Amino acid sequence: MNRISTDIAVVGGGVIGLAIALRLRADGRDVIVIEPNEPGSGASYGNAGTVANYAIIPMGTPSVLRNFLSLILRPDSPLAVRTSALPTLFPWLARFAYESLPHRYRENAGRIAELVSDAASAWTEFASEIGASNLLSAKGCLYLYETRKAFRAADADIELRRNYGVSQELLSGGEVAQLEPRLTGFEGGLFFPRAINLSDPGEVMRLLSSAVERAGAEFLRASVTTIVRERSGLRIAASAYDVLARTVVIAAGAHSRKLAASLGDAVQLDTERGYHIEYDMPELPIERPVCPTANGFYFCPMQGRLRVAGLVELGGLTAPANLQLTRTLASNASRVFPELGVPNRSWLGFRPSMPNSVPVIRPSKTGSDVILAFGHGHIGLTLAPRTARLVSAMLTT
Ligand SMILES: Cc1cc2nc3c(=O)[nH]c(=O)nc-3n(C[C@H](O)[C@H](O)[C@H](O)COP(=O)(O)OP(=O)(O)OC[C@H]3O[C@@H](n4cnc5c(N)ncnc54)[C@H](O)[C@@H]3O)c2cc1C
Repeated sequence: MNRISTDIAVVGGGVIGLAIALRLRADGRDVIVIEPNEPGSGASYGNAGTVANYAIIPMGTPSVLRNFLSLILRPDSPLAVRTSALPTLFPWLARFAYESLPHRYRENAGRIAELVSDAASAWTEFASEIGASNLLSAKGCLYLYETRKAFRAADADIELRRNYGVSQELLSGGEVAQLEPRLTGFEGGLFFPRAINLSDPGEVMRLLSSAVERAGAEFLRASVTTIVRERSGLRIAASAYDVLARTVVIAAGAHSRKLAASLGDAVQLDTERGYHIEYDMPELPIERPVCPTANGFYFCPMQGRLRVAGLVELGGLTAPANLQLTRTLASNASRVFPELGVPNRSWLGFRPSMPNSVPVIRPSKTGSDVILAFGHGHIGLTLAPRTARLVSAMLTT
């Protein structure tokens, strides 16, 4: 056993843990990041790269609740449930149904709106700090609607965004084609002009991890199995290491539930599995992230490739990738861009998801020496700089 003592141990080196570690080093704290894999190689690697300051609508809405059964039964649906996972999922699903009720959906949207409101400026500053400014693009983001009915069905969400001051512009089909000439034949669109995006989340994670190392944080290649509160501090068993920390930040993404529970925090965290496929392309057909809303994915312009990222599969952390879902992604993508052909690669990742889509960023109920920072669902990339600031404030007051 290697015995190590530290001021703060951050468990998990995804975008959330890394952003927190960087911030805490700037505060002058001693930090160790404990991560078993390449830092930033989890959900933070394969996402759609949008800094989604407009994405205030939680996953659970009255409309999703009404249509839940038809959604999970439709073969080309953006939402799938692995039946083998249903018994374990049941408490999460029951809470999700409650959080989808009209009053809860509106309240959850308000909490998310507050968190994402400064995401674009926070990311611009953060990217400059880690040397990733050239991987940010500020051309906004576009939602597409194929039919008038689908456009009208978005009214409630559009109204809610308006109430929370989200910048959005309704576009006709012609205006969509003016913005993105390859996108013709859509009934209309919704443009979020203030959204920004990363042209390579994996590369940004590499730069972020280097910045954390340069700032003086230590990395331990290890997986945390237990955290026990002792008189002398928090004792962390992590592979070959025995770490004693004054403070622990749990930021292990979708894997955080057990760690939080071991310290007395019962948190209803589960995972929404998400997928991407990529097509290597020197010339990209779009300039900004574009989401055909009926299909639940984004076309994401990345460096030298088009990424198609999205879908939600409820099915836990251990089942293998569902190849049928990657085929669905490919066939829906080729309906918009018929030239796409066969994807060059595919990926499965685990969003850390709360039933109300609101992340958990707070001290443990059992003591302020443990900070919980997980459950960012669909907007973890967006919220990393903000989460880091919130955690820093919790540890300095
Ligand atoms: C398809 C898809 C598209 C997405 N698109 C977007 C988007 O456009 N914009 C956006 O804002 N968000 C998006 N997201 C969500 C975003 O990627 C996640 O919310 C975010 O990456 C979560 O970051 P994290 O650091 O909490 O988790 P992760 O990146 O998963 O990191 C958690 C880390 O903890 C480590 N870990 C696990 N267990 C342990 C342990 N026991 N001990 C030590 N370490 C451990 C893991 O190895 C991992 O590296 C998307 C997600 C998916 C799947």
